[in-house]
Amino acid sequence: MRFATRAIHVGQEPDPSTGATVPPIHLTSTYTQESPGQHKGYDYSRSGNPTRSGLEESLAALENGAACCAFASGLAATNSLFTLLSPGDAVVCYSDLYGGTYRLLEENYRRWGLEARYTDDTAAASFARLVDSKTKLLWVETPSNPLLRILDIAALAEIAHQAGALLAVDNTFATPALQQPFSLGADYVIHSTTKYIGGHSDLIGGAVIVKDPALIEPLSFQQMAVGAVPGPFDVYLTHRGIKTLSIRMQRHSENAQQLADHFVGHKAVESVVYPGLSVHPEHELAGRQMSAFGGMVSLVLAGGRDAAYRLCERTQVFALAESLGGVESLISHPASMTHASIPKEVRESRGVTDGLVRLSVGIEDVEDLIEDLEQAL
Ligand SMILES: *Cc1c(COP(=O)(O)O)cnc(C)c1O
Repeated sequence: MRFATRAIHVGQEPDPSTGATVPPIHLTSTYTQESPGQHKGYDYSRSGNPTRSGLEESLAALENGAACCAFASGLAATNSLFTLLSPGDAVVCYSDLYGGTYRLLEENYRRWGLEARYTDDTAAASFARLVDSKTKLLWVETPSNPLLRILDIAALAEIAHQAGALLAVDNTFATPALQQPFSLGADYVIHSTTKYIGGHSDLIGGAVIVKDPALIEPLSFQQMAVGAVPGPFDVYLTHRGIKTLSIRMQRHSENAQQLADHFVGHKAVESVVYPGLSVHPEHELAGRQMSAFGGMVSLVLAGGRDAAYRLCERTQVFALAESLGGVESLISHPASMTHASIPKEVRESRGVTDGLVRLSVGIEDVEDLIEDLEQAL
């Protein structure tokens, strides 16, 4: 089965007892056993729930992976992976990282003895320089947040594997509809399913998908032992969202490209950041690695912080809000919202300046989105 077909059918088999085409939501904490320890594969919903199993099957199939563990949030998923490392290990990351991932590494894991090393340079060689015998994991987001830089997954996988480390790709921004990290050599794919996978801004969730079936066991153990699991209602909504992922990503990408093209050269806009623009530093790599350029666009305003604040306050279709990836368009000011937990000097040195606004371009009529930004500017 091809991608859009898998998105609609895998993990969504009709209910065998009633024929219900859409499987029921299994709202149960426990499962009645026939004899002690004799059950149908489920004994308690922290360790397993059929609704969750359906979502996990679906996500594994969409990423072309072996297996998946769903979590209560993207950060719970991220945390489950960091927990597999040990004190004294090192993780090498690209510096333009989701703020919460950076916070987890710096506030929780550094104290605990895990060393995070960051490079500001997208070139694979800059990662190689930070890798040594302590390095167990390379962690990247591509496209990155909010600078939308593109990292070469195939080159990074090679560097990781040569050092005996594994490569984790946070695929939240691209989704498997546009980018397949396992086919490029990655070992783990992480999602905040809160974003494009769910797609409707109505839930919080996360997932880790593995390519090698041997890697799932330690993650299932964390899922069961720590218990950061999603509830069946959220899982149902996530799985329902997945059915339209393919057409949503297509439309997000078309709208984002038109909007980015429109604001190139605008007098209030110093620069437009979008991997689909030929001036983007990794435009060519993005074209090779992704099947479309995605729905995220950043604008650097000529008027700095004041102009950015005014724009954020004046839009009417774009809602001023954290998060991204829903059908509705959102605008945000990373320096004071999603990236506020990163110290100002660190943030600015990484290019997240006060004039930067991030747009999650929705699937509305693009003319309305462009008109809305025009009137607000
Ligand atoms: C939102 C996000 C996360 C964290 O996910 P939550 O569901 O909010 O916990 C991680 N990575 C990226 C790229 C994100 O956008």
